[in-house]
Amino acid sequence: MIPNAGGRRVALAVASCLRTLLASIALAALTGAAPSRAAVLDAERLRALFPAPYVVGEKDTTIPVWPVFKQNGPATDLVCYVFESVDFAAIPGFSGTPINLLIALDPNGQYLDVRVLSQHEPVFVDGLGEEPLFKFVAQYPGLSLKQTIKIGSGTTQPSRRGSTNAYVDGVAKATASVRILNQSLLAASLKVARSKLGFSAGKDPDQVVRERGDVYERMDWNRLVESGLVRHIALRNVDIERAFAGTDVEATDREAAARPGDSFIDLYAAMATLPSAGRNLLSEPAYRSMNARIDAGDHVLLLMSSGPYSFVPDDFVRASVPDRLSLKQDGLPIEMRDLDLDAELPAVGQPRLDSWKAFRVISAAGLDPGQPMDVALRVVRSKGTVYPERVARDFTLTFSIPQRYLVAPPEDQKGWRAVWKARWPEIAVLVAALAALAAVLARQHALVSDWRRLHIARPLFLLFTLGFIGWFAQAQLSIVNLVALLQAAVAHRSWTFFLYDPPTVILWAFVLASLVVWGRGTFCGWLCPFGALQELAALIGRALRVPTVRLRAPVDRQLKRVKYAALAFILLAALWSPLAGDRAVEIEPFKTAITLVFARSWPYVLYAGALVLGGIVIDKFFCRYLCPLGAGLALLGQVRRLDWIARRAECGRPCQTCRHRCSYQAIDAAGRIDYAECFQCMDCVAILRDDRRCAPRILLAKGRRMIAVAVDRSAGPPARPASAAWSAR
Ligand code: SF4
Ligand code: SF4
Repeated sequence: MIPNAGGRRVALAVASCLRTLLASIALAALTGAAPSRAAVLDAERLRALFPAPYVVGEKDTTIPVWPVFKQNGPATDLVCYVFESVDFAAIPGFSGTPINLLIALDPNGQYLDVRVLSQHEPVFVDGLGEEPLFKFVAQYPGLSLKQTIKIGSGTTQPSRRGSTNAYVDGVAKATASVRILNQSLLAASLKVARSKLGFSAGKDPDQVVRERGDVYERMDWNRLVESGLVRHIALRNVDIERAFAGTDVEATDREAAARPGDSFIDLYAAMATLPSAGRNLLSEPAYRSMNARIDAGDHVLLLMSSGPYSFVPDDFVRASVPDRLSLKQDGLPIEMRDLDLDAELPAVGQPRLDSWKAFRVISAAGLDPGQPMDVALRVVRSKGTVYPERVARDFTLTFSIPQRYLVAPPEDQKGWRAVWKARWPEIAVLVAALAALAAVLARQHALVSDWRRLHIARPLFLLFTLGFIGWFAQAQLSIVNLVALLQAAVAHRSWTFFLYDPPTVILWAFVLASLVVWGRGTFCGWLCPFGALQELAALIGRALRVPTVRLRAPVDRQLKRVKYAALAFILLAALWSPLAGDRAVEIEPFKTAITLVFARSWPYVLYAGALVLGGIVIDKFFCRYLCPLGAGLALLGQVRRLDWIARRAECGRPCQTCRHRCSYQAIDAAGRIDYAECFQCMDCVAILRDDRRCAPRILLAKGRRMIAVAVDRSAGPPARPASAAWSAR
């Protein structure tokens, strides 16, 4: 080390470099600082995206979607609905701003087009670049909302279009971002599908209970009714007449009025997808045919009737949606369509049936088999011939499936809980490491009592921090996290997006707790991957005898203020606009050095590389002078409750050993620790207990005594006197 070498000249050069750096970053940020707004679709833009023969219709008056049509001879077919994802599911990404997608969904729930309209994901903004993101969304066209779309790896999970599950390839290093995108896409599409495509507005189809396919008991008709698998409503003529009483069509059915006690209809309902119902009520070929025609998760409602009135009229078009029937759950309509099964029902002791039909309810419709459902039978009477007056009445058969034929829903595969479950091994390793670190820091003695042990254990932990926390788990805490939370709060958006990155959440929780106990040093000295990279590079530099520079104290003090300016600048830029925030956070080299492991365009690599090299010459150059996150943590660290670094009466007056040994110049001439600048390297703690390094101890060992000069350590930076017990050890 070169004590005070070239002091003034080096300081001036460093200060000038920092000024230039901040000025250029400010310029870069403000150049693109026009307040950004989500791309907004308008008719003109849509017409460019869907040129003739497509016709872009008027924007829907109830929800923000555009219908797109295509002329097909004399008919005009609806091709798709186009909409922006932020209008329906503004789920914030990692910048705190939602990814906005253009989605084109056809009437069957199939994606015709998905494009990125705007995004501010840190990893895609000048990181990996937007190309991988565009490639990711390009996998959606052709997939269907009725499929369970899973993010996997193309090498292990082939995409299975048309099947129940479809896999899209994720993007390495952007796992959390693409999960949020997938969630936004599905949530927005489901809302549109429920509103425009007849999908139920009920629960997420993946989150409802399932029918059990493994329970089959042979039953006759009576047992089917007793067990609740077949439900029944009996309507007599008098019931119908009563429903029309007081209307203009009262008593218009003369035949029925003559025989009020006669049956009008006996309607029976059963869920044929339950094996105990379907296999007993349908013939074996019909049951097989039914299963072959439906997808996993679909339901088939079997309706049977006897009596003069039929639930399907004579002119019923096969495979269509019935007019006389409707299915509702929680008051919301759910579409069911004739499955067109054509066979005789086997005799299992049922009454004489005049008609039966099987109706399919697709899984995406959101029918919850665990909740009661209402099958409404519509009876219409009319009066007059030229402009007949029509009066309709609904008669409801409430239907519910017995619990024993149901099974709980599988766990959510899309939400943040699934991410935590999938990443449990990483979480376990991280939690174990943090617990070990906390235990060691709480009982420093074991760590610092042996100088050699300290200087082996700490670099090893830093290697773990860089390799596992940083490069593997991608858990580099960053000012981006704070900016994202701030932007989400300003925009009144949820912070749930944060939960998609479990290691980051855990690390933040630990860091916030450690701020209260030890201050900023725990994160900056042990857990920051870029901090670790600088320290490890500095160790290599020392092994190679690269000369180091220690700045003069006044210069060091001035430069340490620059990081607070950087922090203020980033926060202001982020409040000004997400785009300006995106650019300003590039002060941090974390994305380049840790997230992307230097695989980035050369200006960024040059900047990050220069900072690492700078950290070899001036210990933790970036951390001490530039890091906005370090500045934020130093400010938050004011809540620290412990003065955990012991001091002796001789510290500072006259002994200056620790001050000179502190590589980060966090000890002043009076022996006071500046905890806002302490990186918890533990050197001074070890020296204090070391008979060969602590000057007063060395003198004592020689039978001499260093005379402590009275010093008021209560003035200036953090200075509660150390306990006598500590001082005496
Ligand atoms: S100052 Fe910044 S880069 Fe340095 S250790 Fe702290 S957070 Fe990491
Ligand atoms: S030597 Fe002491 S004061 Fe300096 S960084 Fe290390 S622990 Fe903190």
